[in-house]
Amino acid sequence: MAILFENFGLAGGYFLGVLSIILRYALIAGLAYFIFYHWKKSSFRRLKIQQREVSKKMIQNEIFHSIYAAFIIVFMVIGIYFMHLRGWTNIYSDIHEYGIAWLFISFFLMTFIHDTYFYWTHRLMHHPKLFTLVHGVHHQSNNPTPWAALSFHPLETIVEFIIFPIMLIFLPVHPIVVFIYSFWLLGFNVLGHLGYEIYPKWFINHPILRWLNSSTHHNMHHRYSNCNYGFYYNFWDKWMGTNHKKYYSTFEKITNVKSKNNETAHHSLNLPSK
Ligand SMILES: [Zn+2]
Ligand SMILES: [Zn+2]
Repeated sequence: MAILFENFGLAGGYFLGVLSIILRYALIAGLAYFIFYHWKKSSFRRLKIQQREVSKKMIQNEIFHSIYAAFIIVFMVIGIYFMHLRGWTNIYSDIHEYGIAWLFISFFLMTFIHDTYFYWTHRLMHHPKLFTLVHGVHHQSNNPTPWAALSFHPLETIVEFIIFPIMLIFLPVHPIVVFIYSFWLLGFNVLGHLGYEIYPKWFINHPILRWLNSSTHHNMHHRYSNCNYGFYYNFWDKWMGTNHKKYYSTFEKITNVKSKNNETAHHSLNLPSK
């Protein structure tokens, strides 16, 4: 995004930056929505986590807040840009300075740091004194769609993204890693709010992959609110005992339905009642 500020000035770069985030969101969330909620809706119906339909009003609300968030996010990117100009960040431009392996290591470190930050700030935002003001907007979607990927109150947008300038002060990161991470972040957000479970049934029993959160995991967070706080990984929920007690059985129930014409699956709610 620095290229935009350098070529179009701060104001021009800001609006083009907002536009690029909205376009990226519209493409990734829109593609997922089109496939799962229109084009292949009947084929994927058995994998729908909550069978009930989502209202148009809910989707409009998700899109409105996500677009709003894009304006806040680019403000924070401008902050990072100025921090970088003043030499306050550890962003480096020569790949060979830290080697190719560091590109991968730094990416994974970012996911672990971000996930830990997310888990604890997320739990904090569920405190009754903060929930309504900061996090309530995101929970208006209790049966989320891909459009909920960036559906945050402005204050929550700041909480969610302030970790990046902080990380970039301490962690040497190449711009290509930042760029790829921004897609990974949005992609994982869309996956978490997809409303459909797309992992295979063996995923939850795999010794390594089971530590990665599924769409069912985050969907259950939206449905019940007091469980499943993690984002990418399941470490913190496991260690702190905050996984929903029926998370694994719910995942298995959804992914075990074999027949796409299974009438029971068509009409039942895949999630437990509490
Ligand atoms: Zn969510
Ligand atoms: Zn929450």
